Order: sequence, then C-alpha cells, then structure tokens
Amino acid sequence: MNTSETESTALAGKSALVVGVGGLGCPAALVLALAGVERLVLADDDLVDETNLHRQILFAEADIGQDKLEAAKRALVQRGAIESRIELCRSRFLPCNALELARSVDVVVEGADNFPTKFLVADACGIERTPVVHGAAIRWTSTCWSVSPTGTPCYRCLFEDLPSGGPAPNCDTAGVMGPVVGFAGALMADLALRVLSGEPDFGQIHTFDGLRDRHRRVPVRRRASCPLCGENRSIFDIQESRYTAPSCAA
Ligand SMILES: [Zn+2]
Repeated sequence: MNTSETESTALAGKSALVVGVGGLGCPAALVLALAGVERLVLADDDLVDETNLHRQILFAEADIGQDKLEAAKRALVQRGAIESRIELCRSRFLPCNALELARSVDVVVEGADNFPTKFLVADACGIERTPVVHGAAIRWTSTCWSVSPTGTPCYRCLFEDLPSGGPAPNCDTAGVMGPVVGFAGALMADLALRVLSGEPDFGQIHTFDGLRDRHRRVPVRRRASCPLCGENRSIFDIQESRYTAPSCAA
C-alpha cells in the first residue's frame, strides 16, 4: 500500500467543510480533495476577483467575475478530485446556518477574512463539539491552529471578542504575500488531515513569519474566564447580535 492509499483509507467516510474559498481556502481545499476526504463542502458566496488571483490558486484569469464555488470545483476536478465528493454551499457561514453546517462535518477549516465569521465559526464548533482549524494571514505573517472536539482551548481563549473601533485590517486593506497564504493554507489542510486521521495537534498555534522565514509552534492556554469554554461559560447558542462589532462612535 503506498502513501496515498494509506491516506485515503484513513479518510474513508470523513468529511470537511472549508469556510471561505479564498487565499487560505483554495490551497486547503486542494490538499483535502486530493488527499481523499470523502465529502468536501465548500462555503462561499463571492465571485472571483482579479486582485486576488495571486493568492487564490484555484482560479485563473478566465474565471474573473464568475462564481467562486463553480470555478473552484472545476479546478479541483481538473486536478484529479472526484466530482461527486465536492459539495457546494452557496452561502456564507451565517448565524442561521452555523450550527447545522458545523454539525454536518467531521472538521471545519475556517479561512474567513473577517472577525465576525471567525467568531461565529468558533462558537458554532464549540457548541456542536466539532473540531475546527482556524487560519489567518496578513502581510508577511500567518497563524494556524486546531481546536479539539472538547472545545478547549478555543478561539475566544485567544481573542476574547470582536475588535472594537470598526473593521480590522484584512488582506484587502493591508495586503498579504501570496507565499505566506499558501504556506498557511497548506498547514491548515495538514492540521485538518491530522484531525481526520486521528493524529491531531490540538491547542498549538503555528505562526509563520515570511519575512524572516521563521515558523514557531507554541501552546495556546485555556482562559478560565473564556465565555465559550471557561468555567462560567455563557455561550450556549448562536445569537446574531454577538457577531456585530461594536462601533467606535458608541
Ligand atoms: Zn475558550
């Protein structure tokens, strides 16, 4: 049995959801699809944008203006993925579908480009006890880590709540280097495959500094006062108002 057969056997019957088919989601989806994940769900509602082509590796110039999901599926199949295993969810990860989406898969790969979605994914996975891999990249730096089905330590242990004072910088406003995103997306897929094959790396945050070629892995500490996984937990359901950043004018 060769390496890919071993990988496919370990992934038999396993499913993954990729939230956001962008710079992180494209490489992550490619790895997961070709590794043999039996059900790969892609969630996004955006169109392919010319300015993102340098980091969204599933898309080409001919895809500009087209539906991201269809273009991604086409690219994955062209590269050898099995078409019937790819499921398209033409929606963002929203309060109204968050719990259903989180409970429908074995692992969620969160490559969203905004904090409200990141917190929503974290909360839904925490409530449903679904392992989740979080990823983020900006300029020359990326971070990735996975949260166990016990739900702790979680995203809210690191980032208590949505940042106040308006939208935080993201790839569109602050820029990001393509190789840094590619590295992070591949690492997210690696962490997800480790979850699915029973060899997880939960609770260790990986940071990559592309300017200094430095990769670090450090443990995330559980925060006792965390509202999602702490001793006096207060988040047990999805309330839409929780995912609106407070305004600096307030
Ligand atoms: Zn927590």
